[in-house]
Amino acid sequence: MTNLLLAPTENTDNQNSQYTSLNDPEIASVVTHINEEHLDELLGFLSAFTSLSTAELDLVDAQITDIYAEGLAIQTCPKSSEIQLFGAQNSSLHDQIFFIAFATPISQLDDLQAQYILLKQRADKKLGKKTIKLTKQVFEVQNSYRISKNMLRLELSMPSLNSDTPLNNTAQLSNAKGVTSSTSVPTNEAGYAYLFDLEHNAMTDALMTDSTDGNKASDYKTNGSNKENVRPARPHCYYTLRKAWQADNGIRAWVDVFLHGDTPGGNWAAALQAGETVVTKREFPEKVEHLRNGQAVLIVDETSMPTAARLLELWNNPTPPLVVCVTQDAGDQSYFDTVKMRSGIDCDTENNGNDHFTILPIVTNQVNSGADLATLIDRELGDYLTNNPLQIDKIWGALEANTAKALRPLLKDRLGLSRTDVVVKVYWRHD
Ligand SMILES: Cc1cc2nc3c(=O)[nH]c(=O)nc-3n(C[C@H](O)[C@H](O)[C@H](O)COP(=O)(O)OP(=O)(O)OC[C@H]3O[C@@H](n4cnc5c(N)ncnc54)[C@H](O)[C@@H]3O)c2cc1C
Repeated sequence: MTNLLLAPTENTDNQNSQYTSLNDPEIASVVTHINEEHLDELLGFLSAFTSLSTAELDLVDAQITDIYAEGLAIQTCPKSSEIQLFGAQNSSLHDQIFFIAFATPISQLDDLQAQYILLKQRADKKLGKKTIKLTKQVFEVQNSYRISKNMLRLELSMPSLNSDTPLNNTAQLSNAKGVTSSTSVPTNEAGYAYLFDLEHNAMTDALMTDSTDGNKASDYKTNGSNKENVRPARPHCYYTLRKAWQADNGIRAWVDVFLHGDTPGGNWAAALQAGETVVTKREFPEKVEHLRNGQAVLIVDETSMPTAARLLELWNNPTPPLVVCVTQDAGDQSYFDTVKMRSGIDCDTENNGNDHFTILPIVTNQVNSGADLATLIDRELGDYLTNNPLQIDKIWGALEANTAKALRPLLKDRLGLSRTDVVVKVYWRHD
């Protein structure tokens, strides 16, 4: 039976009100994307904005059924593991529809992202979780160099730091006019990601070219309608804060960028020069709390190696993890060679002893994407576990979209794990 239940908190609305359809052909694919990749956020909305308890939400999955101008319709449904094990059990918790209202109604699908982020911020705040931030941060490039065959490390600093910067990783920034604003860089978080503004550097480059090279100026006009000429193929790109620390003269940070041909993100990173600024416009924490106990497996490709490296450095679990490290090029497997676990334990590819983290290397010699890669990872992990019997309790991984989608059910099947214990994120999409 389907009920229309309304959230009892600030999302309460007139039960009989009609919601306004957006009539956008893109809605179906947006709904599919959110349902496939953001289940935990939908459950978070239900937890924060409805009367469903954590225990009840543990028994169900959730999916968006429609996006209206005024909000989201979210339906509870049987957990996928429950369907496999018992068939869809009839439960009063299944198939209820909840309406989650936006702070401000939207008139077009383009406005959804802002309202969705606001919902997420409000839900996370209510649930006491770290959340996405829409803050602008400015870093200065200090240096850049390769740390493995295709990984470029950017060394960044926070410019113009006050001398009395406190050690709690919150820094005061002051601009040229002496206006200060509070900013913070997390020194103790693995997988903290920043959305870098690639347009900022394209514009700066174009302005520099304008003023220094009369011949090139005509190719890079930056005023009026010709601004389009300097826009990079993508305006922004996510990269992880590999590590940040408080130095004598302010915050220092590393960002590691996988260079994989002639692409906007890689070209941006490779062109950066010492002294240039880079700007970030959004930031959010990674979902890694479940790794605090139990035997964990980290599954990474080149884009998620920085997160795994920081996880190892901050490892907060008595049992060292197994790291499945998939690279296209054998020359990038050395990325973990210099990574030390928090306790000072070295990486060891041979020893399965209890005091070492173990790398299971997979070199594919091709782009690491698609469902075939998921099959390969699952098979290699299965072979490893046959020879090294381990009870795996937790998974964290981040891979290409189709690989992640195909891998989640394979891992749940093989390891018999629950939804909350298997976190396999999408870090990029192959087109
Ligand atoms: C939360 C988060 C954190 C991330 N952290 C990092 C990080 O620390 N370091 C890092 O390098 N990346 C990281 N990524 C991934 C990075 O944002 C993507 O790989 C991004 O697509 C790179 O942009 P691009 O301009 O190089 O390629 P795009 O403009 O996205 O695509 C250009 C071409 O390159 C292909 N392509 C894109 N990514 C890859 C890839 N990884 N391998 C092979 N082909 C690819 C596409 O299919 C396309 O054909 C992160 C992503 C997320 C969501």
